Amino acid sequence: MKYVIFASYGNDSIALIQFAHERGLADVHVAYSDTGWAASWWPDRVAIAEDWVQSLGFTPHRISSEGMEALVMRKQAWPRGGGGKYQFCTAALKEEPARAWLALHDPDGEATCMTGVRREESENRRDAPEWVTSSEDHGGRELWQPLVRHTSAMRDQLALKSPLPLLPFRSKECSPCVNARKQELRLLGEQDRNKVRVIEIKAGTNSKGNPRVMFSPKRHNGAVGIDAVIEDSKHDIDDLFVTSTCSGGWCGG
Ligand code: SF4
Repeated sequence: MKYVIFASYGNDSIALIQFAHERGLADVHVAYSDTGWAASWWPDRVAIAEDWVQSLGFTPHRISSEGMEALVMRKQAWPRGGGGKYQFCTAALKEEPARAWLALHDPDGEATCMTGVRREESENRRDAPEWVTSSEDHGGRELWQPLVRHTSAMRDQLALKSPLPLLPFRSKECSPCVNARKQELRLLGEQDRNKVRVIEIKAGTNSKGNPRVMFSPKRHNGAVGIDAVIEDSKHDIDDLFVTSTCSGGWCGG
């Protein structure tokens, strides 16, 4: 395989696939991390995207992982947002399965990996490189991020040529994301809210007797549990901490 695009099928990924098509790249594989934690409606978008990918002559793939519930039960804790060491969902649901998949499908490490990272997206991507000769995140393979200098308007121009509608928010491959801001929490659908509730009940309490809940009560005015967190998000529009995204372009666009 010559190129592997890591796609979440959000706007940036769609723009990147369109870019690869317009550049005439051949032997392109598009890998989607199926975290099992997507928004309830997201699989429909993924199916349309995969049909489109195939129509361009590219090959779609899905990379599966243990999923959020198994991860929380194994760690006896929810991952936390903020991009630090407690955001272990990035490694468990995306990085490690992707590296294992690459080792299996590209054992000699010859593929060029591609992501749709853009510098404009966030503070922690402001210096994202276009080329990395040997990307540690991708098992030492070459990494190409051709959209790093694209503005959102340029990105939209590319994405609008696809059959996928432009999204007014980031990818919902994980919903809710541990980095969800209050605005996103306010709009969380009942099915996605319920799947959090089910795991919170199953996860019980920690050794100090505190409930194992997805979102830190400290960050949500003391709200404990998904229902209270959503209620709080309706009354408080200010996020207490600046949020972060996964490193290395694994999540988001
Ligand atoms: S999208 Fe959010 S919840 Fe999913 S792996 Fe990345 S940080 Fe974790």
